[in-house]
Parts: sequence; structure tokens; C-alpha cells
Amino acid sequence: MEKFTITQLERISELGGDSSLTEREFTDKTERDLVFRQAEKDLVRACRGRIKELLMDKHMTDSVTVGRTLEKWLIDQDYTKVVTPTIITRDMLAKMTIDEFHHLSEQVFWLDKKRCLRPMLAPNLYVVMRELHRITNEPVKIFEIGSCFRKESQGAQHMNEFTMLNCVELAAVPDGQQVDELKRLARSAMEALGVGEDEYELVVEESTVYGSTVDIEINGLEVASGSYGPHFLDSQWGVFDTWVGIGFGIERLTMALAKSKTIKKFGRSITFIDGQPLHI
Ligand code: ATP
Ligand code: MG
Repeated sequence: MEKFTITQLERISELGGDSSLTEREFTDKTERDLVFRQAEKDLVRACRGRIKELLMDKHMTDSVTVGRTLEKWLIDQDYTKVVTPTIITRDMLAKMTIDEFHHLSEQVFWLDKKRCLRPMLAPNLYVVMRELHRITNEPVKIFEIGSCFRKESQGAQHMNEFTMLNCVELAAVPDGQQVDELKRLARSAMEALGVGEDEYELVVEESTVYGSTVDIEINGLEVASGSYGPHFLDSQWGVFDTWVGIGFGIERLTMALAKSKTIKKFGRSITFIDGQPLHI
């Protein structure tokens, strides 16, 4: 019995072929190569069709649509979009307790001694929400969507540059109601994205950076992490009220919705567009 070669399997996966094809067995190599060539042809035709549809009809990749759907969902609930720098300082990062002793510190891209590419949106959002609350003395609801950078050992679910959408509300819920509010937000976000109640799970986890967190998982894949305060980091930032926040991984959500196993098809890329390979 013959199975597809590793190179053939890689090509099939790149083209979006599924297990009904990859698990096939053949009597000899000639038959295998014949089936491969025909399957490749069919898959390429399908990919070309989807790229044409994107250019002529959709005009927005699924990742962009996921981000925009969540942005609209937040703005409809009176959240304000903020835009902050991608480059942050060593001091800002240290306030997240990400110093040389923290495991995330290994993942930081340093530009020079004092500056790095942000691995998360939280440091900037801490400052902006604190200042807005100080100025208005009202509850503050803000969000940011943008690139975050982490050195990852390049699994199928991680990229060095990915898009995070982080929403946060400060002084908006009474103490004791943070977890309920987190769950409400998470469910409401899934509804906005059209993810059915039986298609995701809310999982409570312990994290060294955020204390206790509420994760959203789709088929066991973490697509978002929610956390809340009062929190041990708050005093460093001059934050003393309750807060609730969720960070969504936009490409993670997109790959989960597409039931894909590879995230890089949905991230910033010059080899893929909207899940389709350009090498066809
Ligand atoms: P994981 O445990 O999957 O590595 P994390 O818990 O370290 O993720 P968070 O800091 O909670 O990640 O970030 C919020 C969200 O951002 C995650 O739920 C995930 O959807 C997304 N995310 C985090 N790291 C990456 C990455 N390297 N590539 C793509 N998406 C990511
Ligand atoms: Mg997480």
C-alpha cells in the first residue's frame, strides 16, 4: 500500500484539501501520483475560484470581516476605538511583570535597549483607560485592534505577528460582578460572529500575567482570553476601580470559523490571501 509523500501532503494542505483525500491509500506509486496530479488540479481550480470571488465580490478577507464585525459589535455598545503605538518601552513592559524572569520575556522582539514591539495591547490600554477615567470620572469603555508580536516556536496556531482586539471597561461593573460581565461579553461576541452556543466553551484558567482568566475556546482552540480587576498589577498603573477586558486573536477566530488547522493562511501574508495560497 502507498500513501501520499510528505511533499504531496504539504501541497494538498496548502491548497485546503481535507482528510478524505490525505488519508487515501494506493496500490502503487503510479496510481498515487496520478491521483495526486488530478487532485492538485481540482484544488487549484477551487482556490482560483475563491480568489476571483474575493476580488470581484467579497472585497474583504474573512480576517478583516471578523475584526470589523467585532469593532461594530463594540461600537454599538458605546465602546470607543483607540489607536496606540506598536513600539513600547521596557518600563511599560516591566509593569506587566514581564521582566527577564518571566517566560513571556523570551518572546519579546527588542528594537534596542529601551524599546520593543508590543507583545500585547494591555500596557497601552491600562494608561489610556486610567487617563480617560481621571479626566471624565465616568465609566470608560475602549478597545484597540492591531498587531502584536511574540517570538513563537512557529506552531500551526501561532505567528510572530498577529492581530489582537482588546476591549476593556473600567469602573463599569460593581465589584463581584466581573466574571458575570466577562461571560456576558464573551457570549455576546460569539453571537455577533454567528458562533452557535454549542460551538464554543468558556474555560476558567490561572495565568501568571493576568491572575484568573476566562478563555473562549472553539473546538479546544483558545480564540480569546478575558481577565478582570482588581488585579495585582493595577496599583503599578494607578488603576483602583473594577475592570473587565477580553483580548481576541483575530486570526485564531478566523481559522476556527473556517475549521482550518493552519493560522498562517489567515494572517498578514504575501503567500496567502483569505486562506488561499498565491502559489497556484
Ligand atoms: P496561547 O496560550 O494560545 O499561546 P496566550 O494565552 O499566550 O495564547 P493571550 O496573551 O491570552 O495568548 O492573547 C489573547 C489571544 O491572542 C489568544 O487567545 C489568541 O487568540 C491570540 N494569540 C496569542 N498569541 C498568538 C500568536 N502567537 N499568534 C496568533 N494569535 C495569538
Ligand atoms: Mg490566553
